[in-house]
This record gives sequence, structure tokens and C-alpha cells, in this order.
Amino acid sequence: MKKFLSNRLHNVKPSGIRKINEKTIVMEREGKKIYHFELGRPDFQTPEVIKDATIKSIQNGDVFYTSNYGILELREAIAEKINKNHDLDYSPDEILITAGASESIFDVYELLLDYGDEILLPNPCWANYINATYIMGAEPKFYTLAEENDFQIDFDELEGLVTEKTKAMVVINPSNPIGSVFKRETLEKLAEFAERKDILIIVDEIYKDIIFDHYKHVSFASLPGMKERTILIDGFSKSYSMTGFRLAYIAAPVDFIKEANKVHQHNTSCATSFVQHAGITALKEADSDVEKMVAEYERRRDYIYDRVNSIDGLSLHKPEGAFYAFINMKELGVSCEEFCEYLLDEKGVAIVPGTVFGSAGEGFVRLSYASSMEDIKKGLDIIEEACKHFKNK
Ligand code: PLP
Repeated sequence: MKKFLSNRLHNVKPSGIRKINEKTIVMEREGKKIYHFELGRPDFQTPEVIKDATIKSIQNGDVFYTSNYGILELREAIAEKINKNHDLDYSPDEILITAGASESIFDVYELLLDYGDEILLPNPCWANYINATYIMGAEPKFYTLAEENDFQIDFDELEGLVTEKTKAMVVINPSNPIGSVFKRETLEKLAEFAERKDILIIVDEIYKDIIFDHYKHVSFASLPGMKERTILIDGFSKSYSMTGFRLAYIAAPVDFIKEANKVHQHNTSCATSFVQHAGITALKEADSDVEKMVAEYERRRDYIYDRVNSIDGLSLHKPEGAFYAFINMKELGVSCEEFCEYLLDEKGVAIVPGTVFGSAGEGFVRLSYASSMEDIKKGLDIIEEACKHFKNK
């Protein structure tokens, strides 16, 4: 038989996070108690007001294809919200509704990347961006987000990564997997860099509402001259705990949106009709629900920060957003993979090795605290015991 599989899939890895999650499902089926800290999925139910709007929308008969761009009322509500909160001036024509940010990423990549083009990605990086790059037949070039540098961008390194093939740079702010937030001065330097090197910035701000210590999120497109260079990816999954709804959007200059719509049109056609209606309600009526969830994430962040830093062998740079703790475990003298494997297989605690997110993740583990405070406390007790086990080895 001839070789049927495409070469482009050669470097694509199955999701390391999902692999761990699948293992937990098998263990749970065998009756084992698992402490889940592996998934980037809010543990809260979707706010009632959004669920009700979804049901009503179906009952009202919103069950047909919508405009490929997404329903106008939703695009208007998105534009209004981001303009008001982040000092921007998007029009509904500059918004494309997609079936999840995961779809947005592929639409944007199809829009920009030819075979062999280069794209700058953070290291560590949420792995979909890496694998989508390989699926496109493009070439990732990694810029390091190092703990010693407060997980900010090292511009000396970045300078050396750009070639004439570089089209764009992906910026995830707040970061998955780190939970860090880029400072305004980092973003301002990046704006100067993007202009000088003539590259586009694909900025993923899906965690922008989950930000702590009264910090105000700086949307990259709001920096002077940056709106025309920015392709913004954002969605409803995290802020509103709507991961199963599959609703997100791309915001970009209208010519980009028209082209991205071609990909989206021939792919998903449109995001689910009644989910789009629920999205309008989320934007207009769920602010207080979001505030409550963010306050709870912050309470957990505070606990985890103090607790982890009290454990011999671990340290944690204070997370500023999202719901991830990127824990430094270099002092344990064991690889992050071995540490995670031991925790899951022997103790039923599911966390993710940092290397799932790239080479800069060596010596780190990602703990998602989209999990109850009770489980977090118990989980950290077990992690503390595991650290003693490795320290005494
Ligand atoms: N972007 C980032 C940075 C994420 O962490 C995730 C999910 O974990 C997504 C996008 C995907 O979001 P969606 O559920 O809208 O596909």
C-alpha cells in the first residue's frame, strides 16, 4: 500500500494534557480517587442566566445557520464590550465569530501561513499553537519566557529569531501555562519591535477577565498604532465557564476578517446559532457571575502561592492571572515527567509536566486550580509528601 498519511502530521503530538486526563478516566473507572489539576477547564457551572438564554433561544426557533460572520447583535455586543473595557474602537465588521478559540487559531493560521513560513511562539506555550504550526507546514521559532526574567519577553533573544520568513508572533496574555501577565512596558517594547520588524501579533487574550490584584488588563491592540498589526483571539470558554458551548471570536482589521471568513465558511460555516444568542446574554448580563468566579480563583491563588512556597523543594512565582500555577520543582532532583507520573500513578494527583508546553517547561509542573479549595488543600498535602519522598531518595 502507498503511504497515505500526510507529512505535515509527522511532528504533531497528541495533547499531553488530554493523555493525562484519559489516564485519570481509566483510574476513576477502577474506583480510584483522583485529584484533578490537569485541565484548563473552569470548575464552575455556566451561569444560570446564560443557560436560560440558551434554552430560550432554542425555544424561540434559533436553530438555523447564521451569517458566516456570526449574528450581528453578538458582534455588536463584543465590539461594545471590548471597546468600553479596553479602550479600543472595533466595529462589528472587524469581528468574526468562531466555534471556539481553537477554531480561531486555525482560521488565523490558514489566513497567514504558507508552507515554510516562520512564526514566533512562546516557550512554554499552550501546545495547540505549536501543533497547529506543524499542521500548517510552517516553522515555529521559540522565544523564552524565563522565571528569572519574571516570565517577560527577552528582547535580545527575540531580535535574533526574526528572519525574512517570519510573518507573525503569538502572544498569550495572561499566559497558559504560566499564569503570568505581560507588563505594560513589555507590551510597549513589543509594539515597537512589531513595527520595526514588520510582523503581525496574534494575541490570545482568552484569560483577560481572570486577572488579580486589581490589575487592569492591557489589550495589545489598544497600544498606539497596534490595532492594524493585531489579530486578537478571544472567547467565552474561560471567563463564563462555557467550554462546552464552543464560542469565540477573532477581532482584526476588516480585510483580514473577510479572508479569515473564507476559511471559517468552508470549515464550520458558523458557530452554533443558539450558542451565539447565549453569548449576547453572557456579555450583557453575566458580569457579576464572572466577578464571583474571579474572586474565587484569586482566593485559591493566594492559598496556593503561600502553601507551595512553604514546601521544601518547590517554589512559585506569584501567578497574576488565568488559573494556573507554574511550579518550579528543580530542587527535587527528578524530572518533571517522573514527578507527575509518580503523583498520578501512586497518589492519584493529576498535574502536568512543564515539558508538555516546550523545553523551557523542564523543571516545572502546571497545576490548574480550576478545582475546589478542598481538593486543592488535599492535593497539596499529597504533593508535599511526594516532595519529601524525592528529597529523601
Ligand atoms: N487559548 C488558550 C490560551 C487556551 O488556554 C485555550 C484553552 O485551554 C484556548 C485558547 C481554547 O479555547 P476554546 O475553548 O475557545 O477553544
